[in-house]
Amino acid sequence: MTCQELLEHLAAYVAHELDADVLVLLERHAGECKHCGQVVETYKLTLVVVKALPAACDPLPEGVADRLKSALAREGFAVG
Ligand SMILES: [Zn+2]
Repeated sequence: MTCQELLEHLAAYVAHELDADVLVLLERHAGECKHCGQVVETYKLTLVVVKALPAACDPLPEGVADRLKSALAREGFAVG
């Protein structure tokens, strides 16, 4: 699996929707590729944080989304 392929499967991975064979490849790549390992961990952590927020916090408080985007941009991720 390439880094690009990992990114394409990331959403399905955290949603536990990946086929078992793809899952194995993704986890192997994440374990061997420092960059992708960090991406996977950060992505999982973000979901945990988002789920932990009270429902009343939706949408995100002023500035949080921008700070998250700029933090991701600093790490070299393209965010829209
Ligand atoms: Zn990679």
